[in-house]
Amino acid sequence: MYVIFLGAPGAGKGTQAAEVARELKLAHIATGDMFRDAQKKGTPLGLKAKEYMEKGQLVPDEITIAMLLEHLTAPDCESGVIFDGFPRTLAQAEALDKAFVTRKKAIDTVVYIKVAEEELVKRLGGRWICRQCQAPYHELTAPPEVKSKCDKCGGELYQRDDDKPETVKARLKVYFTQTAPLIDYYVKTGKLVEVEGTGAVEEIRKRILSRLNKGVTGRR
Ligand code: AMP
Repeated sequence: MYVIFLGAPGAGKGTQAAEVARELKLAHIATGDMFRDAQKKGTPLGLKAKEYMEKGQLVPDEITIAMLLEHLTAPDCESGVIFDGFPRTLAQAEALDKAFVTRKKAIDTVVYIKVAEEELVKRLGGRWICRQCQAPYHELTAPPEVKSKCDKCGGELYQRDDDKPETVKARLKVYFTQTAPLIDYYVKTGKLVEVEGTGAVEEIRKRILSRLNKGVTGRR
């Protein structure tokens, strides 16, 4: 099963993608995590990506597509993947389609998590992430039990540089101009399902799973 999670920064893609991937035993590919990991290791890819990420811009397509396609050859991607944060441009979507044709595979479903813009700004402003396991928290809506400490692994929580107010504005602008057109692209393929992204995390997860299960049942 190959599923794309589409939505604005702050829509909850990362949280939902990780949980749904665990539940359905699929690999979880998050290009943002891959870039942050490369940055932490100080690799040439990480240094290059940093230039764009700190401005809230997208990393160029050639770099992102090459990284993603290389990762897709890993054995754990054979039986299915949840793509989180990829594709983000039309060129990326087309590259993924092409790669799937070559591999005789296909995208099954595109889950579009819909959240209003003012809610996105609120969410991104108070977001804190665990340095160790990447679990997300929110100052107002999902605070950790102990301040600055991850409930799951005890790791230190930090605010991503690109969650600072100026960069948040730039990221949302980039989303609406470059990524939102993908909604139409996937509507045309008949594979897009829209899920309301407001409410409790657990509720949203159930909504997504029920849409995905319907898809699975429909194919049998
Ligand atoms: P995310 O964690 O998905 O919000 O991604 C953080 C940042 O990584 C983005 O603002 C981009 O700078 C970069 N990034 C992640 N995924 C992509 C992608 N598919 N294409 C280009 N840049 C990306």
